Amino acid sequence: MERQTEICIAGGGPAGTLLACLLARRGADVVLIEKQPIPGPSFRGEILNGDGERVLKKHGLLERIAPEAVLPLIRLEYWENKRVVKTILPDTQGGNVGIHIPQADLLHALLEEAGQYPNFTYMPGTTVRGLLKSEEGRYAGVEVRTSDGQDLTIRSRVVVGADGRYSSVRRYAGIASSTEGHGYDLLWARIPAPEGWEPVMCSTIQDGQQLHLFTQARGYVQVGWNIKEDSYKELRKKPFEELTETLIAAFPKLAPSVRKHITSWQDFVLLDIFSSRSERWACPGLVLIGDAAHTMTPTGAFGLNEALRDADVLHEELLACMASRQDATAPLERLEQRRRSDVERRQREQLDMETTYARNFNV
Ligand SMILES: Cc1cc2nc3c(=O)[nH]c(=O)nc-3n(C[C@H](O)[C@H](O)[C@H](O)COP(=O)(O)OP(=O)(O)OC[C@H]3O[C@@H](n4cnc5c(N)ncnc54)[C@H](O)[C@@H]3O)c2cc1C
Repeated sequence: MERQTEICIAGGGPAGTLLACLLARRGADVVLIEKQPIPGPSFRGEILNGDGERVLKKHGLLERIAPEAVLPLIRLEYWENKRVVKTILPDTQGGNVGIHIPQADLLHALLEEAGQYPNFTYMPGTTVRGLLKSEEGRYAGVEVRTSDGQDLTIRSRVVVGADGRYSSVRRYAGIASSTEGHGYDLLWARIPAPEGWEPVMCSTIQDGQQLHLFTQARGYVQVGWNIKEDSYKELRKKPFEELTETLIAAFPKLAPSVRKHITSWQDFVLLDIFSSRSERWACPGLVLIGDAAHTMTPTGAFGLNEALRDADVLHEELLACMASRQDATAPLERLEQRRRSDVERRQREQLDMETTYARNFNV
């Protein structure tokens, strides 16, 4: 089985779905392949910063998201000994220190928008299993297995690898990526917000353990525990209550919700923390965006936002080249030229924030 398209995007996370949506709107023939059957089921970074907000607003997409799924966060608080010792407020009146949007809601809005265009095809439950090359050696499409187990060849002028931190497209294309551990991993859990809880982010060190709280849209609080890199297996041999009691000691107001909703290790999600840089983002006929090109750590919540910026810039470059019918290699390379130094600056900022974290508590 075979089909033809202009742009084939592997990976329907924020980067791939935004790119598909922007290109479909402008009339490009786009196929978006996503291995999960339902968009956004697994936990991901979900906080928009000013950059991500600007991208969505520029394209009139923030308004397309269900209002109850868009939660502006009003403060970042540093806590010590059960009290706030430092507060970061928005730069402008009526501004925010981040906006929480559940990833499922973001993807749903983008897919709904893209779905209005007959030139857009969404293939959920479909996995990219290989790449095609033309006789001249440029990438020319992908091999996939569809949700009903069929093998399909999709030929395309451009292949976009938007398939996340463990990108198969990057591996199939033989693009090397250097990876750096940051000395910690993160355990996440989510609980319903207590009555009267404000839309804030909080950070503390309790009994030597870094803890982070992110208020979420639809009435939740996401909790993050920094743990020593690669220590999760050992940690799981102990009672999970060691983590929940530390959380309760730092934020007593959360006690009833924590005790009711975190009842076993099954309620935790592990994120192994690393950053990575692909040695190059583009080669003839193929380009990497988002986490596939540059995995970020969660510090400062940049990952989602850098992914959205990649999609925005790549869509501009691709539209220019589609219109002129010129060879697509130069526009793919221009993405890296326009974005790489910004992304690497962010990665350096993350390292800096991680090493100076304790100092942020000084009032
Ligand atoms: C568990 C977890 C927690 C995170 N927490 C934070 C956080 O707190 N703060 C923060 O800023 N960032 C966080 N991140 C990072 C942030 O979510 C990413 O930077 C952002 O989602 C990048 O978007 P993306 O579209 O490039 O990749 P992704 O969101 O990873 O999307 C890639 C998509 O490709 C699909 N895919 C993968 N392989 C294939 C294949 N072979 N065929 C078809 N589809 C495929 C995947 O199913 C996925 O939907 C987290 C990431 C993870 C994994």
